[in-house]
Amino acid sequence: MRRGRGRYRDRRGPCHQSRGSGGCRQVDQSDASREPGSWRSESGGWIRASRAPHHGFSGGADGQSQPRNVQAPRCRRLPRDRGGALRCLQRQEQHLGDGAGRTTHRRYCCGGCQRSLRCDRGADHRDPHHPAQGPRGSWPQGQRHRQEGRVALRPFKIAFPSSVDQACDVAGDNFADARLLAGGSDLLTSIKERIEVPDLLVDLKRIKGLDGIAFDEKGITIGGLCTLSDVAAHEKVRKHYFALSEATEQAATPQIRNVATIAGNICQRPRCWYFRSEDYLCLKKGGFKCYARWGENEYHTIFDNDFCCAPNQSNVAPILKVYDGTLEIVSTSGTREVEIEDFFTGPTDDISRENILEPGEVVTRIHLPTPAPSSGCAYFEARERQSFDWALASASVRLTFSGKKVSDARVVLGAVAPVPLRRRASEKLLVGNTISEETIDAACKAALEGAILLEHNAYKSKLVEGLLARALRAAAERGKGG
Ligand SMILES: Cc1cc2nc3c(=O)[nH]c(=O)nc-3n(C[C@H](O)[C@H](O)[C@H](O)COP(=O)(O)OP(=O)(O)OC[C@H]3O[C@@H](n4cnc5c(N)ncnc54)[C@H](O)[C@@H]3O)c2cc1C
Ligand code: SF4
Repeated sequence: MRRGRGRYRDRRGPCHQSRGSGGCRQVDQSDASREPGSWRSESGGWIRASRAPHHGFSGGADGQSQPRNVQAPRCRRLPRDRGGALRCLQRQEQHLGDGAGRTTHRRYCCGGCQRSLRCDRGADHRDPHHPAQGPRGSWPQGQRHRQEGRVALRPFKIAFPSSVDQACDVAGDNFADARLLAGGSDLLTSIKERIEVPDLLVDLKRIKGLDGIAFDEKGITIGGLCTLSDVAAHEKVRKHYFALSEATEQAATPQIRNVATIAGNICQRPRCWYFRSEDYLCLKKGGFKCYARWGENEYHTIFDNDFCCAPNQSNVAPILKVYDGTLEIVSTSGTREVEIEDFFTGPTDDISRENILEPGEVVTRIHLPTPAPSSGCAYFEARERQSFDWALASASVRLTFSGKKVSDARVVLGAVAPVPLRRRASEKLLVGNTISEETIDAACKAALEGAILLEHNAYKSKLVEGLLARALRAAAERGKGG
């Protein structure tokens, strides 16, 4: 779960602006209210909705109470708090009184209460009659391992294969209960958050030959175990695939980039805070509803958000699409090559997963063809915190020029859809034209076609327009078409 994102901003600005913008509509906006100007008659309604207090539980669309507030003001730890189980208990009561439940408390409190006290688990959102949910304490596949009132991680084994074949063998034999471990920056957190409950971790880091970068006239081949730091700093990447370097060096922090691998980055699980909280059994985890759609959805998708609105947060994935990348995937059944375009899956395909990987399949290499000499690429993202954060939105662009005119274009948006989203309408508008402010404007508008803005993320449409305009200008400049 993202930290420090529980503060509430005056959301009137972005919502207000986007309300009348072309091509986008609020999820709860009726057809009639889409007529120019007619939304004004409802303005009182939506302004009230935007300003509604977000504490505790509030009415949902189905008339049921909905958890609204998964974040609460930071509970500062002071020196006098050390070992203060009683103070923890008092704070816990205070949090529970706010209706925020254990989710908030465990994120921001000192942890002493976790060690010293039996925890109150807050509201239980599971349906006792749901086959996948069952009564409290019986999470699917024994997701909780209880010991004397505390919640412990379920024990798991670790295998250290020295070759890809060994890794596939051991992971394939254990089917769904084995997980591949690379840098661990996402997987280990997911295990602690009980999103992943493996019996076996297959540590890939001792496999030799998967952490190199090779370059020839056909393009660049990056080993799946290459860290983001290595990719960002590699001489050939900086020279021939500069936008990949831009994308990787903006991900996370230097420490995380030193361990996070490129394959792990494209396979990372969603950051939706309801998904990451063990107290919410949402649709993606086998539950009945998407809590984000009617709850705290400011970081969620503005495209394809009918079922699950958790965005794909990878910095690397959109840029691999822009460069027409291919993945080498190895399993016990052999090796297959998959275009990055076909790698990601949306919630309508299978809500429980984000890509086509089957259990025991290892992403061993990523290949990017050599870009045309007259092409320029660029990656721009916006973050809430500049020091490190996941992108709120990103725009990746590749433009190939024939003279001053664009002969080929790739436009991919990140962090606004369940998959890195190619905007073919924008690409079509760009091809055959010179890059001018008019074409940039038209391409940006086309990129937002079909956007469905949720209650708190209308600002993302403006963000996308701004980022895409910058990326197009930079790509044109680099491709000498600007
Ligand atoms: C504080 C923080 C900030 C972050 N900010 C950003 C950001 O701004 N942008 C961004 O893109 N990311 C960000 N991340 C995510 C980070 O980049 C990913 O966690 C990381 O890239 C995952 O790589 P890993 O090697 O650690 O993967 P792991 O955690 O080891 O694995 C992640 C997933 O990938 C699978 N996997 C790993 N390797 C392979 C393989 N070779 N074949 C098949 N499956 C594999 C694992 O089974 C697991 O499901 C952030 C993470 C943190 C903790
Ligand atoms: S957006 Fe997806 S992951 Fe988040 S609560 Fe909804 S279904 Fe779950």
